[in-house]
Amino acid sequence: MRIGHGYDVHRLVPGRKLILGGVEIPHALGLLGHSDADVVTHALMDALLGAAALGDIGQHFPDKDPSYAGISSLVLLGKVMDLLHQAGWRVENADMTILAQQPKLMPHIPRMRQNLSRAMGVPVSAISVKATTEEGLGFTGREQGIAAHSVVLLETLDK
Ligand code: MG
Repeated sequence: MRIGHGYDVHRLVPGRKLILGGVEIPHALGLLGHSDADVVTHALMDALLGAAALGDIGQHFPDKDPSYAGISSLVLLGKVMDLLHQAGWRVENADMTILAQQPKLMPHIPRMRQNLSRAMGVPVSAISVKATTEEGLGFTGREQGIAAHSVVLLETLDK
């Protein structure tokens, strides 16, 4: 078994979509980034790559590469899963925590879990997404950005 952790932050700005776990969420602000800036999926991919000691998403999907401009992070997640399978790993479970003051994320969590489950080929019962505020404190509390953590457990494919 292998454990991995991922963490990511994106800045909230006007004029961008807010996409979390592959769900477009109606909000006045969206996340800034080269791809769709899906901070939840980014944290998850880094946790997966970390567990397998396969580097990080910046290394696999450089933000200088125009082919990744505006790309759905769920597509990149599929590529990370291919890398894991090639290296002989499968995912036992994944757990995410989103840190955001606004908007309320609870209604969108079931669709995030479904999207991530589908992109990973892992049962939705093994994919957890949670959200919390930071009580108005720090950059998430001031609504300057959204952060996400992820932990995952991998097992060897032959089990
Ligand atoms: Mg990112």
